[in-house]
Amino acid sequence: MFKTPKISDVKNKTVLVRVDFNVPLENGQVADDQRLIATLPLIDFLQKHAAKVILISHLGRPDGQIMSEFSLGPVAKRLQEKFGLRISFVNECVGKSVSEAVEKLEAGEILLLENLRFHKEEETNDVRFAKELVNDSGAEVYINEAFSASHRAHASVVGVAKLLPSFAGFGLAQEVTVLSNLLEKAKHPFIVVLGGAKIDDKVSAVRNLSKLADLVLVGGGIANAFLQAAGFEVHHSFMGQKAELNVKIAKEILLEHQTERTVVDVHDQKQANKIPVPRVVLPIDVLAAKNSQVKDEKDVLKLQLLRNVKDSDKDLDLQYLDIGPETIDLYEFLLSKAKTIFFNGPLGVFENQLFMKGSKEIVKAIAKNTKRGVTTILGGGETNALINQFESRNNFTHVSTAGGAALEFLGGEKLPGIVVLEKTN
Ligand code: AMP
Repeated sequence: MFKTPKISDVKNKTVLVRVDFNVPLENGQVADDQRLIATLPLIDFLQKHAAKVILISHLGRPDGQIMSEFSLGPVAKRLQEKFGLRISFVNECVGKSVSEAVEKLEAGEILLLENLRFHKEEETNDVRFAKELVNDSGAEVYINEAFSASHRAHASVVGVAKLLPSFAGFGLAQEVTVLSNLLEKAKHPFIVVLGGAKIDDKVSAVRNLSKLADLVLVGGGIANAFLQAAGFEVHHSFMGQKAELNVKIAKEILLEHQTERTVVDVHDQKQANKIPVPRVVLPIDVLAAKNSQVKDEKDVLKLQLLRNVKDSDKDLDLQYLDIGPETIDLYEFLLSKAKTIFFNGPLGVFENQLFMKGSKEIVKAIAKNTKRGVTTILGGGETNALINQFESRNNFTHVSTAGGAALEFLGGEKLPGIVVLEKTN
C-alpha cells in the first residue's frame, strides 16, 4: 500500500507535487475550480510545514508543442486571485529558468511550472526528462496528487516517482479508498449509470462494471454502440472512432450477460410484483436530430426503441442525442431500488439545452437517492460540469475529479501511477 506524507517527510524540504490542473479554460480564464480546490488541503499542509512546493501538471493535448492556449499561466493567476496562494509561475518545466526560480523560493512558497506536455518526453515517460524534472527543481520528495492522471505511465507520474521518496497526496488516497470500497464492499443492488462520448474507453469499462454491478444503465454516445449491437437502427449517431470494434465489444457484452437478470420489485396499490431486468439496460426511447447544434424544439424527434426495427433508410440523417422521457422514468425507477450508485458521463449532449434533460433529471434523481441513504459516487470531467450546472456537490457521497482513471480502476486495472507509489515505499 502507498503512504501519505507525514510532517517529517516534508518539513523544510523541496517537494515536487504532480497535480491535475487540466481544467477547462474560457476566454483564457479557468472556468471550473474543482480540480484546484481538490489540491488545497495538501498545499496547505506543505506550506504549514515550511516546504517549498513545486507544482507540475499537464493541460490539454499540445502533443509536445508549445501552444499558448494550453499554458498553465491562467491557473497560477486563479490560484493567487481566488484562493490567495503565494504562488509564482515559470514558463518552463525543466531547465535553467526553473532552477533559478526554485533558488528564489522561500519556505512555504509555491511555484507552478509550465505545462509538462509542451515536451513530448512527458508522455513517452522519458527517463532523461524525469531526471531533469527532479534535478532542475532540486526536489527531495515527490507527491502524486493527480489520481485522474494516474492511469497514464507518463514521466511526471511514473518516471519521477522512481527517482525520489514518493507519497500519495491526500486527495489521491481518498479517491483510491472510495473506489476500492466500491469494488470490494458496495452494497447491492449496485447500479452503474454510464454515458459520455469516450466510447472507445467505456465499452470495456462496461465489460468490467457489468460483472460488478447488478445493473448498468447506458446512455449518451456509448448507448449508440449497444443499440446497434442489439440490432437497432442508430442512423448517423456518434459511435466513437473505433465504431466497428465498439459494436463488436458491445455485442460480446450483451451476449455474455444474456442469461443474467436482476429482479426488481414493482408495487402497485394491490400487490407487489417482481420483474426481471437485464444486466445491461439500454434506452427505450431517444431524442434525435440532424446534428447536436439544432436550436429549435421542432427539429428534435422523439423515437421509441421498443422493437428491433431495421430501418435501412440511412438518408434519414439522424443522430441520437439524449435519452428520451420514458427512459428517464425507467432509469429513475431502477435507481430508486439501488443501495449504491456510480455515475460516469452525461446521458446526452447536455451542452445544448435541447439535449440536457436526460443528464439533468438523472443527476437530480441520484441526489435524491443520496438523501435516502444510498452511497452515490460520480466521476468524470464532464460530470463535474454537469453537477455544477444542476446540483450541489454536497448532495452526493463523493464526486471524483477523475474520469478515465476511475473507470480503469473500477475495471480492476492497476494504475501505473499508483503501482509505482506502492513499489517505492
Ligand atoms: P465523456 O468525456 O466521455 O464523459 O463525454 C462527455 C461528452 O459526451 C459531452 O460533451 C456530451 O456532449 C457527449 N455526449 C453525450 N451523449 C452523446 C450522444 N448521444 N452523442 C454524441 N455525444 C454525446
